[in-house]
Amino acid sequence: MNDADYQALEDRYALPLYSKRGVTIVRGSGALLFDAQGREYVDCTAGIGVANVGHCHPRVVAAISEQAQRLITCPNVFYNDTRSRLLQTLVQTAPGILTRAFLCNSGAEAIEAALKFARLHTGRPNFVSAMRGFHGRTMGAVSATFTKKYRAPFEPLVPGFQYVALNKIEQLEAAVDEHTAAVLLEPVQGEGGVNIANAEYLVAARRLCDERGALLIFDEIQTGFCRTGKFFAHQHCNVVPDILVLAKAIAGGVPMGATLLAENITVSEGHHGTTFGGNPLACAAALAAIDIMREEKLDERAASSGAYFERRLQAEKLARVRDVRRLGLMVGIELKEKAQPVLSALLENGVLALPAGATVVRLLPPLVIEEPQLDRVVAALHTALQ
Ligand SMILES: *Cc1c(COP(=O)(O)O)cnc(C)c1O
Repeated sequence: MNDADYQALEDRYALPLYSKRGVTIVRGSGALLFDAQGREYVDCTAGIGVANVGHCHPRVVAAISEQAQRLITCPNVFYNDTRSRLLQTLVQTAPGILTRAFLCNSGAEAIEAALKFARLHTGRPNFVSAMRGFHGRTMGAVSATFTKKYRAPFEPLVPGFQYVALNKIEQLEAAVDEHTAAVLLEPVQGEGGVNIANAEYLVAARRLCDERGALLIFDEIQTGFCRTGKFFAHQHCNVVPDILVLAKAIAGGVPMGATLLAENITVSEGHHGTTFGGNPLACAAALAAIDIMREEKLDERAASSGAYFERRLQAEKLARVRDVRRLGLMVGIELKEKAQPVLSALLENGVLALPAGATVVRLLPPLVIEEPQLDRVVAALHTALQ
């Protein structure tokens, strides 16, 4: 079978939910991906911000292999050696006030849990989230998501959601009241265009939540695990949430989500649960991934590689670029034109990248990407945008 055969099978048997690129990826290593013909690509998607430690990191591969031979599944009614160690590592990695975690299998699930726990704790019905935000595709997560095309076909959704413009403190002042269970924010909006929440805004959100008895939830599904140059993006402004939502890069590519709660938020037996969440296979992968992030200092590496990339990119003075927004290795290149044709041109030039809205090219490379590989990305952008 060749590329075209695999593509025909997917086109025939999968639901047509995605805008597909004409490439069949069969192998990955570090920041590189390879197609069925052996052609090499510099990967600036990292599985949509998942492969922060690089594709098939040998220590993640070894951890999965070892665990798979011992125990793959184990429900949460039993204790498990690997899960117990991951829970400790995860909580100790997060800010001190977040003392316990719920483990699940995806970002949307981790958001659902956060919404449920917030209503449970406060006894209040409503949520405030940001315009251009994205929180996932389940009914609760999509209710928190601003973009209409994600929501409108599925109404009626979960009631009680309201959206405010990012970085407009007065809108938050007006929206948060005694019926607000939580304010839900991404420190940097990913899907919405790489829009960075400023420190002043996040500080104000923290103060308003404290004054009015609402919880502050940070969706760090995309910004977490060293992506923005800190282990978590909220560390850029020292604003600590009551609930921290994680997924994507948490387990080195294996599906996992986590919802971390402050000590004062009480949840009791039977309030929530999952079959697969906290399974030993994912926990083993996450333990290895978090170890790698710490030992290889991927936070510092994202900060310095991101700065290097931006310097190189700005030196090109690309006239079709309107704005570059960046925190660490989370990069949004806003164009004066549509992003899709530019993404196709990048692919032709051996670079895989993502859109974030209609006009933004988003780069989320593995954080282990090397400077010569970043040079290749700059060269491909030059060719695609000259
Ligand atoms: C990807 C993403 C989600 C949804 O995660 P899934 O694993 O796709 O359900 C939610 N919030 C943010 C910020 C994301 O980037």
